[in-house]
Amino acid sequence: MRKLLGVIGDPVSHSLSPFIQNSWLRENRIEAVYAALEVKAGELEQSLRSLETHGAIGLNVTLPHKEEALRLAASAGDTARRLGAANTLIPRKEGGWHAENTDAPGFALTLDYGDIDVKEREVFLLGAGGSARAVADTLVQRGARLTICNRTVDRADALALALAPAARILTLDEGLMRLHSAALVVNTLSLGHQGGRLQLPESSGGIFYDISYGKAAAASLAQAKAKGWRGLDGLGMLVAQAALSFEKWFGVMPDLANAHARARKLLEAVQ
Ligand code: NDP
Repeated sequence: MRKLLGVIGDPVSHSLSPFIQNSWLRENRIEAVYAALEVKAGELEQSLRSLETHGAIGLNVTLPHKEEALRLAASAGDTARRLGAANTLIPRKEGGWHAENTDAPGFALTLDYGDIDVKEREVFLLGAGGSARAVADTLVQRGARLTICNRTVDRADALALALAPAARILTLDEGLMRLHSAALVVNTLSLGHQGGRLQLPESSGGIFYDISYGKAAAASLAQAKAKGWRGLDGLGMLVAQAALSFEKWFGVMPDLANAHARARKLLEAVQ
């Protein structure tokens, strides 16, 4: 019988992860299937126990379970512990799950692939939610001069205290007025999902990296390009964090460029 892997979340039916991961399972002739597993808030512990009993060989975890997955894990890697959240679970021989976070190294990989050097460059991070923590962690490790902007300033303060003590904190409105000279703006706001868009100033060639993709990123990216920014969406980050999870489960790093091209085609077909 084929072994089981999957992504646990709610909502999760829209996830591209089964498409991405099942392609890699086929390519590597691994007798397993990767499924989207809808698990409601409050049901994670029971679901993890049940998946362990059924011999699941790897899991991804997404909203709203990333923090709880770390709490429930029997052991965890340094990045997951530092970020306070896990997106990858690996079954342990001695029982229970080992937690890892591939969001931060996934974002870092996309900077490498895009040849984006942030060392001592002015970088604005918009947002202070879960994904902003992963982005901030990488930007700090790479020596960016970081400004964090968020609607709820207390949340940005808490993020900086935990992960980016030297960062400047601004409200979102202040940040939007000042980011015109930034080398890189990373947008982690979820407002694109609600049909919202940012009012960006003109840029002379800075990069506007929206970590959302598809419809959620379309309006902000279109505006960014119209104002002179080089636009980048979050599909590369999605593929990179997935590849790093696959590597943790199977010890094989998949081909990112191929997977990215396939995911882009699928995304364009469903839009
Ligand atoms: P969170 O809910 O943790 O954070 C949401 C952020 O958006 C907060 O900073 C919040 O501000 C802000 N926000 C929400 N609505 C508004 C609004 N109307 N006006 C201004 N600010 C707003 O979400 P995540 O960090 O988990 O995810 C954020 C985005 O990143 C999503 O679009 C998600 O799809 C994408 N993502 C992409 C990944 C990838 O691999 N490419 C991985 C993970 C996420 P406040 O604190 O004030 O509420």
